Amino acid sequence: MIQKLKKSETLSRLLEPDESIRKIWLDHVLNYSEEFLNTVNDRNAFNEYSEEQINAIKFDISENPETITDIISQIEKDIDIPGLNPASGGHLGYIPGGGVYPTALGDYLADVFNKYAGIYYAGPGAVKLENSLIRWMCSIIGFPKTALGNLTSGGSIATLIAIATARDAQNITSKNVSKSVIYLTEQAHHSVEKAIRISGLNEAIIRYVPMTEDFRMNTDVLRNMVKNDKDSGLNPFLLVAAAGTTDTGAIDPLDDIAEIAKQNNMWMHTDAAYGGFFILLDAEKNKFKGIEKSDSVTIDPHKGLFLSYGLGAVLIKDVKALNKTHQYQANYMQDKVETFTEPSPADLSPELTKHFRGLRMWLPLKLLGLKPFKAALEEKLLLTRYFYEKIQKTGFEVGPFPDLSVMIYRYVPDNRDANDFNLQLVEDVKKDGKVFISSTRINGDVWLRLAVLSFRTHKSTIDYTITVLKKSVEKQTKGL
Ligand SMILES: *Cc1c(COP(=O)(O)O)cnc(C)c1O
Repeated sequence: MIQKLKKSETLSRLLEPDESIRKIWLDHVLNYSEEFLNTVNDRNAFNEYSEEQINAIKFDISENPETITDIISQIEKDIDIPGLNPASGGHLGYIPGGGVYPTALGDYLADVFNKYAGIYYAGPGAVKLENSLIRWMCSIIGFPKTALGNLTSGGSIATLIAIATARDAQNITSKNVSKSVIYLTEQAHHSVEKAIRISGLNEAIIRYVPMTEDFRMNTDVLRNMVKNDKDSGLNPFLLVAAAGTTDTGAIDPLDDIAEIAKQNNMWMHTDAAYGGFFILLDAEKNKFKGIEKSDSVTIDPHKGLFLSYGLGAVLIKDVKALNKTHQYQANYMQDKVETFTEPSPADLSPELTKHFRGLRMWLPLKLLGLKPFKAALEEKLLLTRYFYEKIQKTGFEVGPFPDLSVMIYRYVPDNRDANDFNLQLVEDVKKDGKVFISSTRINGDVWLRLAVLSFRTHKSTIDYTITVLKKSVEKQTKGL
């Protein structure tokens, strides 16, 4: 027994590398990350790869260790290089974020000391820090002091928490779900429909509210739809608005939607995952009027605050509703001390043991101050407006004038199928690799999207994008 114990202790102690080993590992990691950061502006936004190449990759686990040198070279070759480079300022597709460096330092520290941020009793400082960040986000959108929420891994989980909370607050159960109605537009992010399904609301009636020409929810039609549904004995209970849609960056008429929600005792959820942080800019605040009347809001620091992926937030006006859906008692948790000053994330979300993800947000904000974040947000808006003007001069059609930093545009050639032509533009830009754009389909037409939200995107990136697009148009029209 003692013999066996000794042997296992000797081996298990390998889990605690000494200072000299820690230094070697850290040096390698630092060398790699420094090399990455020093060359990030020269790197492609997209590297093409083949299926065979990825099929050949092995990430197998064995009994024996490998060297840090080998492991890092595999990370570079098999993970870092192929596909999209979201850290690139040339990432102008989907919704970029970027990954400001101090996010990594926050994660590093949180992971080294592994502070438990799930329950106040165990980590009062960590819980208070996370709650403070949530309260700060509540205050910027104009929620009252009583509001709180949860730091999540991203916007999709944030929305899931909000929808489940709305379900319980509105007393939707198996008895009335099939008569209950949810309203959203076709421009709603697909994570909303996912959340509806996962939270057991698949049998509810989903109404797609028509939009005005600028892709905003048409509230005149909405008002009638709700009235008709009520008149026919249905139970309208949830309205989902968007403050910055993924396709066009449009902000729904939030104030009107809030009014309709209030008159009909419905829960209003606003998806501000992409657009929310633009409210920090005084000049843009007005566009968000009414967001403070929402019952819940999704907002993504890993988008609008340029953090590395892994941080979204749900903000709930009535914290009791959030608690009602997510609190649970267990015998093995009996030592937990109830506190009413700082609610515990474990009582406000599905998670128990969780990453102390507040530190990855707090550290960048503390180290840099808010000013450069606001400047970067303003720069993204200006760059989008700059592109909007310039690309028209190049012969492209554009969609509505951008509310925020996402817009749509396309080239309509003579005597050619416009959809094929624009898809080929995406391919040509991808082949070039320096910048990355994505496309979408609206009423059957292919539109190209410009989404400017990386803190590394600057005027030179936009000018370059226009040049590549121009070249591809010339190549296609000349049939080269
Ligand atoms: C990105 C996005 C989401 C989903 O958030 P994730 O952080 O990707 O899970 C939801 N809604 C909108 C409008 C988004 O842009």
